Amino acid sequence: MKRKPRIYVIKLNRKLILALLGSIIFLVIIISFFSNSKSRSIFKYNSNGVIVVDPGHGGIDGGTSDKDGLLEKDINLDTSLYLKQELIKEGFNIVMTREADESLEDFSSINASRYRRDLNARKTIINKNKPVAFISIHVNSSKNPSARGIQVYYHPNSSESEKLAKSICDSIDVNVYKNFLKEDLKSTYLPYDYFILRETECVGVLVEIGFITNLEDKALLKNDKYKEKVAYSIRKGVGKWLE
Ligand SMILES: [Zn+2]
Repeated sequence: MKRKPRIYVIKLNRKLILALLGSIIFLVIIISFFSNSKSRSIFKYNSNGVIVVDPGHGGIDGGTSDKDGLLEKDINLDTSLYLKQELIKEGFNIVMTREADESLEDFSSINASRYRRDLNARKTIINKNKPVAFISIHVNSSKNPSARGIQVYYHPNSSESEKLAKSICDSIDVNVYKNFLKEDLKSTYLPYDYFILRETECVGVLVEIGFITNLEDKALLKNDKYKEKVAYSIRKGVGKWLE
């Protein structure tokens, strides 16, 4: 004999429904309040954990230089390779736009100058990998020989990139200037409409690690310990930004 399934009808009155809804909303607010900052970093780590490191220039394009043949492209690559090692220690997956002394125009098919094609290839690598962030490494120069120090650039439309730039500067001030050089120097973070910052679809900064036109900075740019310290500081700045 088939038994008819019993149907239980719970009579809910209005007050009960409102009370239930109220407590659900309250719980959601409490949970999101306490998990907000952490979940953001976990999300970023879990997205794919990729950071793109972009050593500026390369190959035919030496970047800025001094009269003795010191070339920006080589300093950028040295520092970027240190940065790769540091960020691996932090648990990131690293994509490099270049790991050798080469320019990247052959990886772009747009109809433009060699310089534009090189930049376009870098942009494509960054966007294709959908990284947590990208970091371009460069060396500065100035007509004013007393201009020195590290500058970190971010795009004016990206508040998250500004936060990353500030975090990297804070780390550089402590780890490079105060602890390594024992000097009371300060790095600066500035908005700028660079192609690589404007055309990329993720958080990113461009770090100018010193002025080749300043004698003290130039000595540092030739010093492997300095480049290692800069790389370590950028790693610490990225870690802090994600917290
Ligand atoms: Zn450069």
